[in-house]
Formats: sequence, C-alpha cells, structure tokens
Amino acid sequence: MNKERFIEEAKELNIILDKEELDKFETYKNLLKEYNKKFNLTSITDDENIYLKHFYDSLCLFKVPELINASTLLDIGTGAGFPGIPIAICKKNIKVTLVEANGKKCNFLNLVKEKLNLNNVEVINRRAEDYTKTHKNEYDIVTSRAVAHLSVLSELEIPSLKINGYFLPLKSNIDNEIIESSNKIEKLGGIIEEKIAFKLPIENSNRSIIKIKKIKETPEIYPREYSKIIKEIK
Ligand code: SAH
Repeated sequence: MNKERFIEEAKELNIILDKEELDKFETYKNLLKEYNKKFNLTSITDDENIYLKHFYDSLCLFKVPELINASTLLDIGTGAGFPGIPIAICKKNIKVTLVEANGKKCNFLNLVKEKLNLNNVEVINRRAEDYTKTHKNEYDIVTSRAVAHLSVLSELEIPSLKINGYFLPLKSNIDNEIIESSNKIEKLGGIIEEKIAFKLPIENSNRSIIKIKKIKETPEIYPREYSKIIKEIK
C-alpha cells in the first residue's frame, strides 16, 4: 500500500491524517526497518507491506465506533507496537498502554515513543497475566493482534476491562476460536456482540474484529497462571 492509498483508506475509516501524523508513520517505518536488521522485530520489512499489514491493519480497529469515545486502551503482546502505536498516533486523546514480555521489543517501543513524541503511550515490560492481575477494571478498550488463542486472550484481557468496556481482538480466521471460547468468555463476564469481517485491501485476505462487551465483573480468580490458562487449549 503506497502512502497515497494509505491516506485514502484511512479516510474510509474516518481518519483524516495530517502532515505531522504522516511524518510519524514514516519515521516509525524507518525505525522498524533499521532495528529489524539488528533484532528480529517483524517478518514484514518492505515499505508497502509495512503500510498495509502493520499500519492500515492496526487502524482497522477504528471500524468499531466505541473506540472514538474511549480514553484508555490496553494492547497485550504488542510486539513492535501493533495495533497500539498506529492508534496512538491518530488519536492523541487516548492513553495507550503497551504490554510486551520481550525486553528488546520494549526497548524498541520506548525508542519509538521518544522519537515520535508519543506522550499518550506507556510501555510495560511484563507478562500480560501478571499485569492484568494487578490492573483490574481499568480500561475502556483492550485489544491484541496475533498473540494467542481467543480463549487465552480472553482470560488475559477481560479482567482489565471496565464494565461496559470492549475487548476487541484482531484475527484473520476466527470462527472456530469463537465456538471454542464462548463459554469461557461468558465465565469471565463478557458477551460476544458482533463479528466485524472485512478484507484487507490489495491482497484481499480475511480479517475480523470481534466485539466482546464486558457486562459483569470478572470472578476474582482470573487471570490464573499462564500454564493453567493454556492447558485448556487443545
Ligand atoms: N501484536 C504484534 C505482535 C505479535 S507477536 C503484531 O500483531 O505484530 C506476539 C507478541 O506477544 C510477541 O512479541 C510476544 O513476546 C508477546 N507475548 C506473547 N505472550 C505474551 C504474554 N503472556 N504477555 C506479554 N506478551 C506476550
């Protein structure tokens, strides 16, 4: 996706990118390419695919109207910053917390935060299950892309959501995971409201965002230790 197309497609998501934001995306892309030579941050390394599969794909979270009025967002297993950093670039009035277990990736995230002057971003170098255990009922939105099975993610993330907040996992193929996770989501206090399915422009690959609303308090025992959480997955 070239920059002109990126600007156009962002408009379709009701995001009007100004020069400062476009410069930030360009700096972010250059930092990703530079640091990828030293550490393995991402397998996507050419300009057009960085814009399509990292930047635009992350911004697709704006398909969810509830994001507009949210003031806090937690991105678990953010890796090199997706989807959290593109959202923070475009929406300055949201506080974005990035949780990532890998220390080298956190060093990269802190560098991006500094170079892009992202005062609305906080980087936490911890495992998600430890972080959410001590940050319950705090966030308007929790999200994740390409980290774990929906059932695992639900236990890592729903405890941190406020009541009436939304858990919005970004997935490519999700139908089986929804079936396998629906009881667990209910136990955690969530309800699956909607699956937003769409295709990524240019390559037409399948994407979906699941809208899961927290309607009740999560029982105190969650999240459990990671070994217990993953035992339930076949
Ligand atoms: N969300 C990013 C990265 C996906 S790779 C993207 O879509 O590009 C998965 C990332 O999740 C890795 O960086 C890994 O270190 C991190 N991760 C996996 N399990 C985690 C956990 N329990 N707590 C925190 N980070 C975790």
